[in-house]
Amino acid sequence: MPKLYIIPTPIGNLEDITLRALRILSEVDFILAEDTRTTGNLLRHYNISKQIISHHLHNEHKTVAQICDKISSGNSAALVSDAGTPAISDPGFLLVRECIKNDIEIECLPGPTALIPALVNSGFPCEKFCFEGFLPQKKGRQTRLNFLKEEKRTMIFYESPHRLLKTLEQFLEFFGSERRVSVSRELSKIHEENARGTISEVILHFQNKTIKGEIVIVLEGAQE
Ligand code: SAM
Repeated sequence: MPKLYIIPTPIGNLEDITLRALRILSEVDFILAEDTRTTGNLLRHYNISKQIISHHLHNEHKTVAQICDKISSGNSAALVSDAGTPAISDPGFLLVRECIKNDIEIECLPGPTALIPALVNSGFPCEKFCFEGFLPQKKGRQTRLNFLKEEKRTMIFYESPHRLLKTLEQFLEFFGSERRVSVSRELSKIHEENARGTISEVILHFQNKTIKGEIVIVLEGAQE
C-alpha cells in the first residue's frame, strides 16, 4: 500500500524509539530526512540500511509534489526529522497537507517530542495547554507576548540556549515576577535539568552561567 508514515525519533536518548518505528523504517521503500547524516547515524545504530532522501525547510516547497508522485506510484515512505516528531517545529506539515490533497494515506506514529515531557515535568495543569513553539525573533514578538498575557492555559515555548535569559526577562516584563515557569534543558540526556520557580527565581538560577543544550520553557497560565 502506498503510504506516508511520520516517524518520531529520539530527542536525545537513543533508547527512546518504538519497536514499530524501527520496523517501519526497515520496511518502507525510502526515508525522507531533514539531515541525511543525522538519520544515517540513527539507522546505522539500529542496523537499518535504506535509501535516504533529503527533505528539509529549504527544499520542501519544491519537492512535495515529486514525493507525492513517488508515493502514489506504489511506494511507501517514512518522514523523520533530526529529533522528535516531524512537523512539530520541524518540516512535515507541507508534505502531510499535500498527501491529504492527493488521497495518500498517512500514519503518524506516537513517539518522542520535547514538549510533552517538559509539560509534565513542570507540574503545571496539563489538562489544557497551548504550544507556542519558537516565539518570533523580532517582528511580532512583542505582539505575541502581549496576546498571551491573558492566556489561562499552560504555555509551552521552544527556545535556544543563548536566547533563554533574554526571553525570561521579557516574560518578567509581560507576565510579572510572580508567574511561575519551568525550564527543561537537555530532556532525556545525561545532563537533563528541570529548573522551576517564579520567573525571577529561574532567571537567578541561570544568570552568570554558560547555558548549553536544548531548552523548553513552560509558563504557568494566568490565574482564572
Ligand atoms: N520536532 C521536535 C519535537 O518534536 O520536539 C522539535 C524540533 S525543534 C527544531 C528543536 C527544539 O525542540 C529545540 O530548540 C528545543 O527547544 C526542543 N528540544 C528538542 N530536543 C530537546 C531536548 N532533548 N531537551 C529540551 N528541548 C528539546
